[in-house]
Amino acid sequence: MSVRVRFAPSPTGFVHIGSLRTALYNYLYAKKNNGSYILRIEDTDQSRLVSGAVENMLNILKWCGIDHNEGVMMQDGKITQVGEYGPYIQSERLDIYKKHIDQLLEEGYAYYCFCSKERLEQVREEQMNNGETPKYDGHCRDISLADARKKVEAGEPCVVRLKLPGNKDIVFTDVVRGRVVVNTDDLDDQVLIKTDGFPTYHFAVVVDDHLMGITHVIRGEEWVISTPKHVYLYEAFGWEAPVFVHLPNILNTERKKLSKRHGDVAAADFKNKGYLPEGLINYLALVGWSPDNEQEIFQMEDLIRSFSLERVSKSGGVFDTNKLNWVNSHFIKSYDSDILAKLATPYLVEAGYISEEEAMGKINWISDLVSVLKDRLSYLEEIKNEAAIFFSDSIEPENEEAEEVLKLTHIQDLLNIFEEKVKNAGTIDQDFGKMVFKQIQKETGLKGKNLYMPIRVVLTGEVHGPDMGMTLKVLGKEKILSRIRYVRDYLI
Ligand code: GLU
Repeated sequence: MSVRVRFAPSPTGFVHIGSLRTALYNYLYAKKNNGSYILRIEDTDQSRLVSGAVENMLNILKWCGIDHNEGVMMQDGKITQVGEYGPYIQSERLDIYKKHIDQLLEEGYAYYCFCSKERLEQVREEQMNNGETPKYDGHCRDISLADARKKVEAGEPCVVRLKLPGNKDIVFTDVVRGRVVVNTDDLDDQVLIKTDGFPTYHFAVVVDDHLMGITHVIRGEEWVISTPKHVYLYEAFGWEAPVFVHLPNILNTERKKLSKRHGDVAAADFKNKGYLPEGLINYLALVGWSPDNEQEIFQMEDLIRSFSLERVSKSGGVFDTNKLNWVNSHFIKSYDSDILAKLATPYLVEAGYISEEEAMGKINWISDLVSVLKDRLSYLEEIKNEAAIFFSDSIEPENEEAEEVLKLTHIQDLLNIFEEKVKNAGTIDQDFGKMVFKQIQKETGLKGKNLYMPIRVVLTGEVHGPDMGMTLKVLGKEKILSRIRYVRDYLI
């Protein structure tokens, strides 16, 4: 049987980094096994829908290169559905759920419940006061189906509940956690259909996973406690349950569940900061899964080749921003500077260094700027800081060492010679950079620390930094000359 997996988000807001990882693992597993990867929208909780959430989700997945081949997609800016198992949006499947709940009602696996909110509240309170775990007390379990239907027809508000048998062990095997056994006495008669006629997640997920031929359910560990109820539903329908794989939570470095209070958790936050999709995906794959060797840098194809569910860890994966930065900086270094220039431009505009129109006309220059700075960037937004030295009219010695350099006895003479050469140069390019230092060395005997470092400090305020030739090229004649003047007038 060929592998069919699904990512089944609820469009209730932003895409959490944990959901993105769930999508990624589903994708990797499908690709590795030449299977199908389906995207289904679980919108049965109508009160939590957020408009635009589906579009955002599809955009983020596309940006990450996590492409599905079936289900809800975006084509020409519009949401469409592709595949033979549709509809793939749960709110469009209500007649299917109706048919299936009728079957469970007829066969005695489910029952109508007419208890009011107030009554349920009261039962709950009493149970809590008695130190019991609150659960439905079974008040409506024994109303006959015929009587219940009369009430329903008379317009009495109701839900449909799962009729769990007493004291039955439900057993399933989770690929990550192994054998799980839960007794029905510890479970509640789960609501399957709500008062508004919509199914709950628990009912819809089972019906859909079965009807859509899902072979492996790969999802977050928060669902593991619900899985016994799902397993019982599969049994009730006489269906074979899929393989379950519950992924560990993503934790922060204090080993607490990653939450918005502790920093970025939305996939879009990382995109907006200028992480590259390759970097984010590479790192995310490693949060909760590890390859069987020491490899740390992966392209998507490598991930597909190496991925296996068996190597998903049982304990929570720690999301370490420093490690993410390290991985991402690797991809920034290896990216083509022209592409990076386009990606980095919005940050330069945002920082007020350059206008959008100006940037369009100077894209080659921005590309040079980026190639000078890319070794220093963990994510592109950092260019706002790093690029400051190329836009400001003044420089500031970064530390004492830089200040000392400006006090060297030969600094005035060196500046004079350097200024002269810059003034006489046609264009300032990398070759000029190479040549000018050679010439000055020949003429003055200065070299190494006494030659490069002072010029670097004069031009950037820093003692160490990117390639001098490129730095000169990016600064350009005017800026170089104005900095020499500035240092001479104000700093020495
Ligand atoms: N709609 C659920 C969620 O957003 C999906 C859970 C599942 O994959 O079964 O988390």
